[in-house]
Amino acid sequence: MNSPEELDPALSALRHTFGYTAFRGEQASVVSHVLQGGDALVLMPTGGGKSLCFQIPALLRDGCGIVVSPLIALMQDQVQALRQLGVRAAYLNSTLEAVEASTIERQLLAGELDLLYVSPERLLNPRCLGLIESSQIALFAIDEAHCVSQWGHDFRPEYRQLTVLHERFPQIPRIALTATADEATRAEIIERLALEEARVFISSFDRPNIRYTVVEKDNARRQLLKFIRTHHDGDAGIVYCLSRKKVEDTAAWLCSEAIQALPYHAGLDASVRADHQTRFVRGDGIVMVATVAFGMGIDKPDVRFVAHLDLPKSLEAYYQETGRAGRDGLPSNAWMAYGLQDMVLQREMIEQSQAPDEVKRVERRKLDALLGYAEAPACRREVLLRYFGEASAPCGNCDMCLAPPETFDASLPAQQALSTVYRSGQRYGAGHLIDIILGRASAKVKERGHDQLSTFGIGKSLPEAQWSSLLRQLVAQGLLGVNEHGGLMLLEGCRGVLRGETGFQARRVRAAAPKAAASVRREIEFESDEARALWAALRQCRRDLAEEQNVPAYMIFGDATLMQMLEHRPMSLNAMHQLSGVGDRKLDAYGMRFLEVVQQHQRRQTLGNAE
Ligand code: ADP
Ligand code: ZN
Repeated sequence: MNSPEELDPALSALRHTFGYTAFRGEQASVVSHVLQGGDALVLMPTGGGKSLCFQIPALLRDGCGIVVSPLIALMQDQVQALRQLGVRAAYLNSTLEAVEASTIERQLLAGELDLLYVSPERLLNPRCLGLIESSQIALFAIDEAHCVSQWGHDFRPEYRQLTVLHERFPQIPRIALTATADEATRAEIIERLALEEARVFISSFDRPNIRYTVVEKDNARRQLLKFIRTHHDGDAGIVYCLSRKKVEDTAAWLCSEAIQALPYHAGLDASVRADHQTRFVRGDGIVMVATVAFGMGIDKPDVRFVAHLDLPKSLEAYYQETGRAGRDGLPSNAWMAYGLQDMVLQREMIEQSQAPDEVKRVERRKLDALLGYAEAPACRREVLLRYFGEASAPCGNCDMCLAPPETFDASLPAQQALSTVYRSGQRYGAGHLIDIILGRASAKVKERGHDQLSTFGIGKSLPEAQWSSLLRQLVAQGLLGVNEHGGLMLLEGCRGVLRGETGFQARRVRAAAPKAAASVRREIEFESDEARALWAALRQCRRDLAEEQNVPAYMIFGDATLMQMLEHRPMSLNAMHQLSGVGDRKLDAYGMRFLEVVQQHQRRQTLGNAE
């Protein structure tokens, strides 16, 4: 008997191969467009489901789909996951032995592959292009397409040469995909990859399951520890730091606090990096402390939090980094600790770099956008989405929505701060300025004679934290500027406030961290001990199978699929097949094992109840 979906080959592949019941968002349109041979540019957030957009057309069109992917780890994971689904997938990159590579080349020529993942270097190699010429090719997918952009954070020069695909194989459809969506990058991808004719598919960039929180930095490490202990005990997460040293120190410190943490940065030996990455991906609940060198190509769906101890490079980078949380759609946290020092440091890095003025201008603009987010007076998600050109309403799932900040008329303190900046000569950093305002006669204050200023000790009625927050807000709103040494100076915008013509509303510093985040559902909630027991048994079954197969546990079945088993209690293979994430191959390979777990559990229940 054919259901309607059996008549639609794309839906049928979705159902049978991947085990999903319906396409999400733009997936259906992209698949149908590419199936018909059209070029496409697909902009979708991380976790949005980009892979299916090229995987299904590759399965259904004649020949093999060639996927250009910048990171080796990503290829291996995707290929492994596809093989679990019974798809004939392989990869070609520098990690392969010559013999293995030539086997794969032979399979490609013989039409025995559905999907072949290739690194850009490898693809551009004349030998590889020749091979492609002699094989039947279903499509080219260019994953992480923002790598063509020099302004972006993952620039890969080889990506620029991918126009060769279009020139040599004009009849083969190309689909470029990225999770980076700002206007400039989008335009650059189109230009650099000659995708002027391609249809552009833009999805909403919202990640509703991610909760955004920014805390004022006080003792960042302690704040981080508290955050992890309160909300993510035993969860997998990523902590981003700017420097290698800070990565090492933070990881070691977390370990000393009994949190399983590993460091990752470009200065570590390649083998150590690979080992840490594998342990993170396979393990249950490891915290990776890393520089931005870590993350692209990590497909782990159950990363429950991403924390930033330093400011990211830009909002794009921030969104991509935080987007690594909660790919499986379950509740997750994006948490950042930030202070005036971070802002100053970033400014210094821009001003002191050797980059041409044009680049610096772009970087300044990006930093301003980032500060606008960190200092957002209302919903953070609105700020993020607006940056990507999307309108939205207050989300109810960020710190600002959950615990709206209190503001107060800070016109007078603002004047006092501005006037202190002016009187001390517009070249001192926040620490020194606050010393003056609070009347602290430090050595430096005395040496410069700043204890003689009329503003010395003028601000004793407000706590230090409020002053540093106020200075930050003055910078974020363009009343104060930061010179290349971190000194604060007056900007044009401060006039009205200084003269008392315009007021200044400031956020009040909270005595303690907002409570609201405590309501984050950090683990799956169970209605009863009985459900908890079944959940544990299902996870154990998954762990056993993962070990037998030597793959990460999530590749057997994701948490979402196990939760369905818990909810629906399938008692037959047929019922099992109805669950999301259970395709034909996985039903064959693992269905029985999980069915036994459920059946045994139900039997025990019945017996228990009869007693
Ligand atoms: P992206 O590459 O955009 O970050 P992925 O392609 O890795 O996202 O997909 C994210 C997750 O969503 C994966 O676990 C994937 O299996 C799942 N997924 C994708 N499309 C669907 C769908 N139509 N129904 C259910 N789950 C889906
Ligand atoms: Zn919000």
